[in-house]
Amino acid sequence: MNKKKFYITTAIAYASGKPHIGNTYEIILADSIARFMRMQGYDVFFMTGTDEHGQKIEDKAKENNLTPKQFVDAAAKEIKRIWDLMNTSYDKFIRTTDEDHQLQIQKIFKRLYDKGDIYKSEYEGWYCTPCESFWTESQLEEGKCPDCKREVKRAKEEAYFFKLSKYQDRLMEYIEKNPDFIQPESRKNEMINNFLKPGLQDLCVSRTSFAWGVKVPFDPKHIVYVWIDALSNYITGIGYDADGNSSELYKKYWPCDVHVIGKDIVRFHTIYWPIMLMALDIPLPKKVLGHPWLLFGDGSKMSKSKGNILYADDLSRLFGVDEVRYYVLSEMNYANDGIISHRQIIEKINSDLANILGNLVNRTITMQHKYFDGIVRKPASLLPQNDADKELIELIEITPKKVADLMMQYKVSDAIYEVMSLAKRCNKYIDETLPWTLFKNPEDHERLKKVMYNLLEGIRVISILLYPFIPSTSEKITAQLNTKKNSYSSTGVFGKLEDEIELGKPEILFSRIDTEKKLEEIEKEIREKQEADNIVYIGIEDFAKIELKTAKIIAAEPVKGAKKLLKLQVDIENKTRQIISGIAEYYTCEELIGKTVIVVTNLKPAVLRGETSEGMLLAASDKKTLSLLTLDKNMPTGSKVS
Ligand SMILES: [Zn+2]
Repeated sequence: MNKKKFYITTAIAYASGKPHIGNTYEIILADSIARFMRMQGYDVFFMTGTDEHGQKIEDKAKENNLTPKQFVDAAAKEIKRIWDLMNTSYDKFIRTTDEDHQLQIQKIFKRLYDKGDIYKSEYEGWYCTPCESFWTESQLEEGKCPDCKREVKRAKEEAYFFKLSKYQDRLMEYIEKNPDFIQPESRKNEMINNFLKPGLQDLCVSRTSFAWGVKVPFDPKHIVYVWIDALSNYITGIGYDADGNSSELYKKYWPCDVHVIGKDIVRFHTIYWPIMLMALDIPLPKKVLGHPWLLFGDGSKMSKSKGNILYADDLSRLFGVDEVRYYVLSEMNYANDGIISHRQIIEKINSDLANILGNLVNRTITMQHKYFDGIVRKPASLLPQNDADKELIELIEITPKKVADLMMQYKVSDAIYEVMSLAKRCNKYIDETLPWTLFKNPEDHERLKKVMYNLLEGIRVISILLYPFIPSTSEKITAQLNTKKNSYSSTGVFGKLEDEIELGKPEILFSRIDTEKKLEEIEKEIREKQEADNIVYIGIEDFAKIELKTAKIIAAEPVKGAKKLLKLQVDIENKTRQIISGIAEYYTCEELIGKTVIVVTNLKPAVLRGETSEGMLLAASDKKTLSLLTLDKNMPTGSKVS
């Protein structure tokens, strides 16, 4: 029998640096879907990779004294390392510097040119000479270059254009006839109203301002626009050939079932990409899933300048791979942004993984060892004996179907919620049936056998359902149960757990974490790393880099869970900024308010206990006491200190 095929991709990661946890979320999300579809019996092809061309990479390579190729080789290796660390089961990792990919980009460009869909013209716009960049009217800020704030001038440059406008109506029709093509719904409406309805402009698809990219084959001073290069990976990666000699792999898997991408690049995937495919006479992908963003714990975007970037490898080392997978998959809703911080991860590990799941598995297996020497005793009748049995058995039977329905819609966090609800119901069942009481009376041992079997069967189903999300944990539970019945098709009908099998030893899956202690350790580690990176001797030119200003403390309050920290709001020339300061043992909030102090104002922002700190107060201290630096004359806030 031919298995149904399923082709899933992530966006290819831009090889300009290390991806943060928000970028890594996407591959974990796609992985959970790919694993689920394999369990459903689909023949899955799962592709990811790196986008390695463009000006930014050319610039970064230069900064690092590397050739662009050396730079992207290292970046791609690092990205792949993180994808592998997160236990993602992709089938192919494509790089846009792969020879066969680059050759196809040239062929695709030529074919679109021969067809008349790409034409040569002049690009006219506002040009910033130092930045070598063109800007549109709307991109300018107060009439100036948005990057360097310098004057711009009107300029023209020879360039190739792609006739998006020619395909506008066909695309609109496709989107209307395929209401699920763009998901979630809100993103579809955004595309229609903001881009399609106002009318598409032809797209400039070549550049001459840098060299690191695929050259236009018949006009090599032009580089193919990075989005044509990048988007095409979805077909070149499975062996598309623009001359008609596409591979068997391509014929089998295209059209793609779902492109999993971030919400910020929905436009490229639902307008440019389908139009490219239409122009090439290729069927369109079935679905584009624009997932929301993972933001830092206080709701801000992760960025280097804010100092609030979290990386998947650091988090996995601190908490474990499955713990991080579980956090991001359960936290990220289908349509709304999620948030992440060390504290939030710990809280979720404690509440869901340790208290609900780990506790259920551990105490059930421990009890089975105590009551039945670890041997599964299947009761003569599987029929429920009371309401608690009935409720539990029904939930064990129905949950796999619920989870499957949600997963087929890619509603991953909702699916996880259903699995955890089953685990919670099992815990409640233990409280209702009190196995330890049943054990005391030999006449209750038949009943005990049944209660324990119901629980073990529940755990078996839970372990199967968890596999797409936390595969290693799922395998550990299966190993503790020692069951061979671990396929999705062994769920749905109650009672497949084998009779007489001997359970493995109970092992703790997740330990509870002491939140404050762990957070202190993490902060200490970050501090030590910063100290190790610090330069000890500075010259006067280094000191000149430190910006010191007077500031007035206008509000102060304790930081939750941190005995030493205070959260201060200070005024500097009528602008308020927040500073987290370790002075709680030396000053009360009341005595601080109104004080004029000295602040390092250009200190890189840091995050302490989930709170952003933008600056540092100067203070003198020894082991016993601490005294803030204040002024001996009245001065306005924002006065320079040097
Ligand atoms: Zn500029």
